[in-house]
Amino acid sequence: MILDGKSLAVSETKKLAAEIKNRPFTPGLATVLVGEDPASRIYVGAKMKACAEAGIASFPLSLPASISTEGLLGEISKLNARKDVHGILVQLPLPAHIDEEAVIEAIAPSKDVDCFHPFNIGRLFSGYGGLIPCTPAGILHLIGTVPLFSLEGKKALMIGASNIVGKPMGILLLNKKATLTVAHKATKDLKELCLWADIIISATGVPRLIKGSMVNEGTVLIDVGIHRSASGEICGDFDFSALKDKALALTPVPGGVGPMTILYLLKNTLGLADLLEA
Ligand code: NAD
Repeated sequence: MILDGKSLAVSETKKLAAEIKNRPFTPGLATVLVGEDPASRIYVGAKMKACAEAGIASFPLSLPASISTEGLLGEISKLNARKDVHGILVQLPLPAHIDEEAVIEAIAPSKDVDCFHPFNIGRLFSGYGGLIPCTPAGILHLIGTVPLFSLEGKKALMIGASNIVGKPMGILLLNKKATLTVAHKATKDLKELCLWADIIISATGVPRLIKGSMVNEGTVLIDVGIHRSASGEICGDFDFSALKDKALALTPVPGGVGPMTILYLLKNTLGLADLLEA
């Protein structure tokens, strides 16, 4: 089964747009882009397009790569104070001279649409509910569409341990009562772990890291990785053609997790707006 995140995100965005129409306010998302990184520009552009489709106002802020940490903190403080901005997204990575930790901690937790702030991540780790980072939220939705599959009691392998994807996704799997193993760059015997797992979520960006021989029949495979080759071809962490007939369910790249991440950016913006406007 191929998990078609693209079609699902299109139909869910339509439902969301209908919901937003009935609100007495317009949810607003500010996107902060620092520098000229072409990939970041594409990602921010796609997010703004999705906002327009859902009826969310977007406020793009494009800042020069030369901006100082203090300068960026000043911009975030202005966005924190704006009544028409309900969500603030700072596109990562930031230029090396900027103190990323200070920037993330400067975003008001009530407007932290990506759920990067330690306050929101702490709540997530404690299982208190509330915000879920966009990519893990989109992944949970996709997993929920696999017929007769429940995470409870399943052996789950999370490959990748970043603050943005791997760590929060791992905790969510644990909170759903899966038995969790997290692998990363220093992990030995990745194949052994893959063969142990009932579900593998991979977020490394290493092209086709997981080969056909590394996975058992009937495993659920969620591919977060995005790798663009010199020729412009995009692929994920799984060897899609070798695994598509072996997996119980598999997400394509592109068209799997990516569109669901954007859907949850919209959903999180509406969720924050509802709380801030209440
Ligand atoms: P990151 O570089 O911060 O983290 C990568 C992780 O992969 C690290 O924990 C690292 O130890 C691990 N890793 C690297 N090589 C490995 C290997 N050979 N074996 C096992 N583990 C290995 O990256 P990130 O921000 O978490 O993003 C990961 C990938 O997911 C990237 O390709 C990124 O573009 C993509 N991504 C996609 C979406 C989406 O919506 N589809 C969202 C976020 C990130």
